[in-house]
Parts: sequence; C-alpha cells; structure tokens
Amino acid sequence: MDKPASVPDRFDAVVVGAGFSGLYMLYRLRQLGLSVKVFDSAGDVGGTWYWNRYPGARCDIPTTDYTYSFDPELEKEWTWSEKYATQPEILDYLRFVADRHGLRSDIEFSTTVTSARWDEPGKQWRITTGGGREVRCRYYIMATGCLSMPKSPDIDGAGRFAGQVYFTSRWPHEGADLTGQRVAVIGTGSSGIQSIPLIARQARQLTVFQRTANFSIPAHNGPPPAGRLQQLDGDRDAYRHAARWSRGGVPLEPTDVLGVTASEAVRRERFEAAWEQGELFGILNVFADQGVNPPSNDIVAEMIREKIRAAVEDPETAEALCPKDHYFGTKRPCLDTGYFETYNLPHVRLVDLRKQPIVSITEDGIETADESFGFDAIVYATGFDAMTGALVGADVAGRDGVSLREKWAAGPSTYLGLMTAGFPNFFMLTGPGSPSVLSNMTVSIEQHVDWVARCLEDLRDEGLETIEPTAQAEAGWDQHVQDCGAITLYPTANSWYMGANVPGKPRVFLPYIGGVDAYRQACDEVATRDYLGFRMTGPGGTRCRDGVVRSMQPDVAMVMEFVNALGLPPMETLSAADARALMTATAENRPPGPEVGKVTDGVIPGPDGDLPYRLYRPAGPFEGPRPLVVYFHGGGWVLGNLDSDDPLCRDLCARSGAVVVSVNYRHAPEVRFPAAALDAFAAVQWADANAIELGGIPGQLAVAGWSAGANVAAVACQLARDAGGPHITGQLLLCPAVDSDLTRPSYEENGDGYILTTALMRWFWDHYADPADRGDPRAAPLRGDLAGLPPACIVAADFDPLRDEGVAYARALEAAGVPVRLARARGHTHTSVTMVDVVISGAPVRAEMAAALGDFFPAAEPPAHVS
Ligand code: NAP
Repeated sequence: MDKPASVPDRFDAVVVGAGFSGLYMLYRLRQLGLSVKVFDSAGDVGGTWYWNRYPGARCDIPTTDYTYSFDPELEKEWTWSEKYATQPEILDYLRFVADRHGLRSDIEFSTTVTSARWDEPGKQWRITTGGGREVRCRYYIMATGCLSMPKSPDIDGAGRFAGQVYFTSRWPHEGADLTGQRVAVIGTGSSGIQSIPLIARQARQLTVFQRTANFSIPAHNGPPPAGRLQQLDGDRDAYRHAARWSRGGVPLEPTDVLGVTASEAVRRERFEAAWEQGELFGILNVFADQGVNPPSNDIVAEMIREKIRAAVEDPETAEALCPKDHYFGTKRPCLDTGYFETYNLPHVRLVDLRKQPIVSITEDGIETADESFGFDAIVYATGFDAMTGALVGADVAGRDGVSLREKWAAGPSTYLGLMTAGFPNFFMLTGPGSPSVLSNMTVSIEQHVDWVARCLEDLRDEGLETIEPTAQAEAGWDQHVQDCGAITLYPTANSWYMGANVPGKPRVFLPYIGGVDAYRQACDEVATRDYLGFRMTGPGGTRCRDGVVRSMQPDVAMVMEFVNALGLPPMETLSAADARALMTATAENRPPGPEVGKVTDGVIPGPDGDLPYRLYRPAGPFEGPRPLVVYFHGGGWVLGNLDSDDPLCRDLCARSGAVVVSVNYRHAPEVRFPAAALDAFAAVQWADANAIELGGIPGQLAVAGWSAGANVAAVACQLARDAGGPHITGQLLLCPAVDSDLTRPSYEENGDGYILTTALMRWFWDHYADPADRGDPRAAPLRGDLAGLPPACIVAADFDPLRDEGVAYARALEAAGVPVRLARARGHTHTSVTMVDVVISGAPVRAEMAAALGDFFPAAEPPAHVS
C-alpha cells in the first residue's frame, strides 16, 4: 500500500553526493544492511567529473592510482587508456561502477538537499530537499567533495557581459563551440591551465587574464606508465597497501636528500628526473626539505622558472608567467600539456593583472586599468570555495539549532575531518582537517568511507544510537592540523588551501598535511581506543573516553621516531665517558644555528681553576653595549659543554639582541655537588664585574639555562640574593631541574620514550649529589627561600618528566611574590626546544624565551630578525 504523502520517508542513512565518495559510501552502507538514500543535484553519477567538463579536463594523479581499490574484480575489468585519463573516461568509469553494483536504484538525481536539522528527541536528522519533501535518517553523510562549490565571480560588472559566459566548473553538457571567437579566460589555476591550450585551438583570439602566475609541469601524458602497470600486475594488493600507507596516497619512496646541502649535480639530476616523470608527488619530492625550508624550495622553483623561460619566446610574457609570489607547492601545482608554449601562438596574449588589474567587466568585454578588450565569450576558471563551501552552503543545523555556517564562522573545526561537535551522527567525507586535497583523493575517500562504515557497525553492535566528538578531542585535532601546517611553508601562500581565494573567508589552513599514513594511523587508533574523543549514547546511557589523539608537535614526533629507530643504548646504562661520547656523536650533523655577529672563546677564574666560556655578540650595526645573559648548558650535571648548546645560544643571542656568555661548569661524577652551582655563581659574579669588557650594560644581567643548566642558574640567583649581589635582573629557565623528588606525575607520564627518561634523571642525580645533599636548596632550589628572587620565565614542556617541577617552581616563586612568566612548550619534550633548525615548532617557544629576556631588559636594542 502506498504511504500517505505526508509521512516522510525514513532511512538509516542519507548521503549527499554521488561522486567517488558517495558511491562507495552507498556500497558500504548497503553491505551493512542499512537502508540508504543518496541525493545529488546532478543528472547522473560523477560528482566533480559530472560538472567539470571543460576542454582538457583530466585528473592530475595517474589514473592507475586514481581509482577504487575495494573491488578486485572491478580492477580487472577496467583498464585506463591514458596515464592521466580525460574527464569523459573518468565519468564513464564511475557510471560503470554504479552499474556494476546496481547503485543507481538508491540514488535520486537532480535533487538538491536544501536543509538538514538534527532532531534531538527523535535522535534523527530531518532532511528537506528542493521540492520541499522531508526525509528522516539516523546518519547524515556529506559526500559533497572538496572542490564542488564554484566561487562566484568576484569581479565588478560580471553580470553585465552580453556575450557567452562559461564556467570551467559548470561547462555545458553539449560543449561550447568557440571556433573563430574572441575569447577571454580569467584564471590560471589547474582548470585554466588545462583548458587554455585547447581553447586556443578554437578561438580566433585568446586573451588570458592572469592574477597569479602558477607553477606547472608537463604531464607527459600518454599510455599508463609501463613500470606502474608492471607493479600492479605483479602484486596489486601490495601496491594498494603501499598506497594506503604512503604519505600522499601514491606509493613513493620519500627522499632524504636536502636541497640546501645537495651538490649542484645531484640537485639537477633529481629535478630533471621529476620533470621527465611528470607527476605531482615526484616534483614535490625532489628534496626532503623543499616544503619547509625556503632556500631549498627556491632551488626547485628557480629550476621550474628556467623551464618556463625556455618554453616561452617573448621574454616579457615568460617573466610574467614565472611564479614569484609563493613557494613552490604552497598553491596546488598544475600538470599541463603545452600550456606555456600556447603563449607562443600569435593569437594568444597574456594580460598580467598585477600590472593592469581588471576595473570591470562591461557589456562587450573587459576593461583593465590600461585597456579595453572586446570579447565574444568569457571563460571563468576562477576556482572554488574549497573544502568548506559545499558543507556550510548546505544549511545544516545541529543540536540547539546552531548551523555549521555559524559554528565555522572563524574557520572549520572538526575531529579527524570526519565529524564536528554539536552535530551528532553527521559525517563528512574528506572534510577539512583530513588529508583530502593534499592526497590521492580516491585513497583518502576509501579510508574515510571504511572508517565511517566500521564506526556505524560498531555502534550497531554495541546498541548505541548517536556519536559525536567531544569539544576537547575536536580542539586537540584542530590544533594538530594547524601545528602540522605551521611547520611547512603552506600557510605563507594566498591559496585556496588557506581559504584565501574567497573574499572574507577566514584564513585557516584547511587540509591535514601530516600524511595519509599518519592520518590513517590516528583514525585507526581512535577507533581501537574505544572511539577516543567521541561521546556515544544509547538506551543504556552515555559512553565517552575523552582525550586528544595527537598532542605532540609533528616535527617532535618525527624526531622521536627517528631517534627511537636508531636503537641507541639507554644512556643510564653507559659510563659517563661513553654517554658524553654518544651525546657528541649524535650532535655531529645538526645544523649550526643562526649566524651571530661575533663568537669568542675565553676562560674565567672559577672557585677551583679556570672555567671556559663562549661569548656570542649579536650581529647588526649597533656596536654599543648590550644586556648580558650568562647561560648554563644542559646535560644533567654530567654531560654537555660549550659546543653542546651552541646552536641554542646563537639562537637566543640573535633573537634577544643580548650578549650571551655561555659558561662551562665542572661536571659530575668527577666533581660532585655543589661544584656546578658554585661555579655558576662565580660566573655570574665575574660577568657582573666585567660587564663593560664583555660588551654588556652594567646592571642589566640575566641568567639562563636549560635542564641542569637551569638548575645552576636558579641556584645562582638564590646565592646572589643571599650574598647581597650581584643584582640579577631575570632568570630564564628552560625545562629546569629544580627538585630531587622524582615522583611527580610527569615522571610517570613522560618517564620513558622521550629521550630524557626518569631512569636517566635518576642516573644524573646519582652522579651529581649524595642522597643526603639532595634536599639542599643548592641542589633542589624549589626547596629554598624564594622571596626576593629575580623575575623568572620558566618553560615547561608537555612531554618532559621535569614538567611538573618546572610548573611547581613557577607557582612557588609566584607565591613568594616573584613575577613569573610560565611558558608552556606545547607538544614538546625536554630536548626538542633546543633543536634549532631541526624542530621548527620550537622556534615560537624560543621566540617567547627571547621576548622574556627582552622584558628583563626594557632598554634593550631591538633584536636582529630571526624567523
Ligand atoms: P584555482 O586553482 O583556485 O584557480 C583559480 C584561478 O582564478 C587563479 O589563477 C586565481 O588567481 C584566479 N582568480 C580567481 N578569482 C579571480 C578574480 N576575481 N580575478 C582574477 N583572477 C581570479 O581553481 P581551479 O583552477 O579550478 O583549480 C582548483 C583546484 O581543483 C586545483 O587546485 C586542483 O586541486 C583541482 N583541479 C584539479 C584538476 C586536475 O588536474 N585534476 C583540474 C582542475 C582543478 P589567484 O591565484 O590570484 O587567486
């Protein structure tokens, strides 16, 4: 019997979008036995490949990789005709998949979802479609793609043009015949660069309006690469597995060649090989450091510019086509077929909008600051409101009626790019905060769909009805996404990755750049840890294991992985001499740290003989006196010397503009407590007495130190106070050892696996001080009288066993009336902040340390700039 029209349909799941992600989602949901309805405003399957029919449209990942892997039989039945298949062929493939699995019966085409509302009492979504029909579902899944919402032409007068108007993203199905016409193309992103050579073949006159020159490499299209086919034929499963666990979703051996240190011959050879290969991931992998280190990036960028200059005959046009305002890769690079050569055709002209911006579009053409152009057709290749446009445009309102647009007004916030708090049972496939556009989309899509399917299955098995991220888990993931972006050059560009192409859109790095492999690991871990960070509800109540899945800085995690893989012997099992040798050996190939003006070595008189020191004077025109910082290295009173902390001292000097005097003190076990502390105090006295000779400003003297060095610096402050001088204006303590009590929670939480272990700390104490001495404030300054001490800046690192005693010292100083700045080295370990130019995320912490020094010395000269 037919249902009355007023009763809405009810499905277990509604999916929006019938492209790569929607089709596979439907397939998996059906496998689970769920009832599903898919809506798509298009007339057929295909998603992005349904709409983007402009001439020249192809994928930019080799099609052998840009393909589903879930169905081995499908893989056998379908062969791609080209390395980079055309849009019609990819669309045919998706139709073939839909037919093969009978997917169309659950898809409603030409149907737009206009709104979705979470119904809390009913624990369901109420979905309204274009015709005003309502359907209800428990799970609402947006498979709407990352580049599906065209950007409106934000150009004055755009509606006035009386000729033909085309958008690459909405190309007419019947095609567009531009033969003999005067055509304008606005935009030189991937769509423009792919279509321009073909439009040039038809047009009588083609004028390209370029706002930003883009990097593009030749696709060298042709048959699928033989090597790739061999790999697939040899062991398809192994190949697909490698893709799933690769950084970008295409198997690739990441290089460890650094651009800055490679020879000219190696640079050239690697670049030319990537150029010949014609693959995006290849050209992004010429050097390991090109995505993070400007000089390395410049090498690749300049080699591409050379190629552009060689391809384009007119030098002025060539120069205008050379990208110079962004680092290579930070805007999506393009793959082309004859793009630059197109400008050698007599009827093709480039207009550089940086020189003559568009003033307005007129009835019969385009007016720039310098010229009026008449056209028969204008093609907009102006891009998309990427990653968030389709999601916020869909009018989704979660619990309490808050819409996604409102929630994301300052930028998207997601957990794993999959879900967002306040929107129960609402899933996004390849949403912001997932690798999506930085990866081979098909691999990322399959991973997302599989994760969602497993999640729904687990919910069902557990009798649970809803799932939603917690605020804490989501904030943690958002932070991790930004942390990953921040160590790269990507945030420097005005790209659609940053939302910068859409006027008024918040500037946030949208995709997750930590890698498909790392991302998959995080998603798997969340699921296996009982859906860490998700709140699940059911008739039996609420279940939630709250937490943050990744809180270590990504570059720190990489260093830890590297160090742990070395399998070095635990230091505490070595003799002091062997431990010192090991420390020296591991420091051998590290970067030297920034240049400073002058470095001089000398000795000072200590309580029992000379102590070596090294003085760092900042660079810059200012020759006059500077504030003085006496610095003490780390190493548990046993290890370390002037060299061990050299990069850190350079960095502190360059950032703060102070003269830094690093003093070596006597080490245990040869000389035990209190020698190191007494040496430190003597060094401070000497520096104060010799301030002028050292280039310092008398009365502007601070102490600084790391770890055990921070211990002796803190003790020196107490001794100076007790002795009535010298006057110390501030103490900068990085991850200080201030107490001998090794039972604080951070010793448990961070006791193993982060280089400085609890066992090693015990070893240090055993070498340094007898148990009877360990309560002496000269060993454990936390136990001393803290009144009247100099203002302090204490840096406590999250993954440091010493974190809690650092925090305790800050609190105790504060309680004693000492001004304290407690800086959290978020996501750092005991050692990582000191790894100058290795751990990029340490730079902001060191900048804060330098700023604290600046606060100790209000009259200091402005420091030389260090990034
Ligand atoms: P896009 O990369 O955002 O490029 C848009 C172009 O239009 C840019 O050159 C942009 O200049 C210009 N533009 C935008 N607004 C303008 C204005 N008001 N005045 C003048 N110029 C303006 O968009 P897309 O080319 O469509 O590509 C988007 C993404 O889709 C690609 O990056 C890629 O990920 C994907 N895609 C892939 C393929 C493929 O090969 N498989 C093909 C097409 C697209 P600015 O740079 O100055 O903003």
